[in-house]
Amino acid sequence: MFNKRIKIKELLAQEPTGQEVTVMGWVRTFRNNQFVALNDGSTNNNIQVVIALGSQEEELLKRITTSASLKVTGTVVPSLGKGQKMDLNAATIEILGDSDAEIYPIQLKNRPSLEFLREIAHLRFRTNTFGSVFRVRHALAFAVHKFFNDKGFVYMHTPIITGSDAEGAGELFKVTSLPFDETPRKDDGSVDFSKDFFGKATNLTVSGQLEGELGATAFGDIYTFGPTFRAENSNTTRHLAEFWMIEPEMAFYDLEDNMNLAEEFIKYIIKYAMDNNKEDLEFLAQRLGEEEKQLPQDKRSEMGLLEKLEFVLNNNFERITYTEAIDILRESNYNKKKKFQYPISGWGMDLQSEHERYLVEKHFKKPVILSNYPKEIKAFYMRQNDDGKTVAAMDILAPGIGEIVGGSQREERFDNLLDRMKEMHIPEEELWWYLDTRRFGTVPHAGFGLGFERMVQFVTGMTNIRDVIAFPRTPGSAEF
Ligand code: ATP
Ligand code: MN
Repeated sequence: MFNKRIKIKELLAQEPTGQEVTVMGWVRTFRNNQFVALNDGSTNNNIQVVIALGSQEEELLKRITTSASLKVTGTVVPSLGKGQKMDLNAATIEILGDSDAEIYPIQLKNRPSLEFLREIAHLRFRTNTFGSVFRVRHALAFAVHKFFNDKGFVYMHTPIITGSDAEGAGELFKVTSLPFDETPRKDDGSVDFSKDFFGKATNLTVSGQLEGELGATAFGDIYTFGPTFRAENSNTTRHLAEFWMIEPEMAFYDLEDNMNLAEEFIKYIIKYAMDNNKEDLEFLAQRLGEEEKQLPQDKRSEMGLLEKLEFVLNNNFERITYTEAIDILRESNYNKKKKFQYPISGWGMDLQSEHERYLVEKHFKKPVILSNYPKEIKAFYMRQNDDGKTVAAMDILAPGIGEIVGGSQREERFDNLLDRMKEMHIPEEELWWYLDTRRFGTVPHAGFGLGFERMVQFVTGMTNIRDVIAFPRTPGSAEF
C-alpha cells in the first residue's frame, strides 16, 4: 500500500510530540535549501518540512521546486521558528513529480491577478484564494444536502436533456445528433426533428422545476441539485451558461411557507460554512478587504465579509411586495436625480438589476424578499392572486449579488393553469404530463430555485461568478 499519509489539516490540529508521519503534497516555497512549505489542499496552511543540512543529496534538493510533488516521512516536533507551531523534520523525501520552475506559470511573489488565474484555471486551485473558494463551495454543497435530508426531502435527479422549455423563455442550447450539412428538412424548409435522435427537438434543461413538481406531488417534499444551462448572451459577473441550481418543491406549501423555507435554508448553509470553514472564510474576508482598498471609498462595502454573513444570520430578511418596491423606487432620490439607467416607469415594469441592488444595498441594507409580481412579467405556472393582476411569486435579493432565488406558489387549479397557458401560447399537448398533476389529486404547492454559484459568491465575497465555479462556461469561452 502506497498511501499511509496524514492530511496536513489533520496534522496541524495535533500537538507535536515527536510522532512519525508521512505527508504528501505540492511545494509552495523552498527557502535556504532547508525549509519547504508543503501544501496538500486540505487547508491553506502549509506544513513546514525541515531538511537538516547535509542530510539529503544535492541532486534531490535541486528538484524541490515550486509545485513539485513530494512524499515526506519524518518526525513532528515543536517549531523553533515563528509563525508555525510544528516542524516536520524530514527523514526521507521522495520526489513524486518534478515541476520545472522556469515554466510553472504561477509565481506567488507577483500576486497573480484573478483574471490571469482564470486563464490557467487548471492550476489555480493551488493558490490560497481558490483553495479557500472551492473548499467553501464544497461545504455549501454538502450543507445543501444535509439541510434537505434532515427535513425528509427526497433528492430527485431531473433530466438534463429535456423536450420542454420550463419557462417558455428561449435561451436554450439545442441537443441534436442531426448532421449540419444535409440536415433533414420538411417540405416547408424547417428542420425535421422527427429524424433526430429522440424523434423530437430537445435541449439542455434550463430548470428542473416542472419535473420537480411531479416528484413533490408524490413524495411531498423534493429537491434537485444539478447543472442548468442557459444560452443567454449576458456577459455579466453574475451569469454563466452552465450553472448549478438547487430547486426544492414542496406539496402543501403556500407562498409564505415557501419564503420561510428559503430564508431558513440560506441561513443554514451560511452558518454551516461559518462553523466548518472558519479559516477559509477569514482568509477570503482579508482578501476581499484588500481588493476593496483599490476601490473609491463609496464603492467599498460597509461591512467586512464575516460581519456581513453574521448580519444575514442574525436579521430577518425584509419582506415587501413588488408594489411597495415600485413605490420606494419611484420616491427614491436615486430616481429623482435620474441616476438609474432605466427610470422607474411605473407599476408593471420588470425590475432591472440596478433597481434590485438599490433596494438591498442602499435602501434596506439587507436581503429582501420581493413578492406578488405582475403576472405579465412572470412564468405561466405561478399562482394567480385574487386581484387578477399579480401572481404569488417571490424573488430573494442579496447585497452585492442581486437576485439569488426565484420562486413561487404554483398554480394548482387546473382551469386557471390552462387558461394562463393558452394566453401565453404554451402548447398544452407538450405539457400533458404536467397538467396531469392538476387532474389527479392536485394540492397547493410551491418551490424555488437558488443559483448555487451566486450563493457561493455571496459567502466567499468573490465578485466574479467565473471565480466560484471550477471551469466557467461563458459566451466565447469553454476551455478545459
Ligand atoms: P436573472 O434575472 O439574474 O438573470 P433569472 O430571473 O433568469 O435571473 P431564474 O430563472 O429565476 O433567474 O433562476 C433561478 C436562479 O438561478 C436565479 O435566482 C439565480 O440565482 C440563478 N441564475 C439564473 N440565471 C443564471 C445564470 N445565467 N448564471 C448563474 N446563475 C443563474
Ligand atoms: Mn436570467
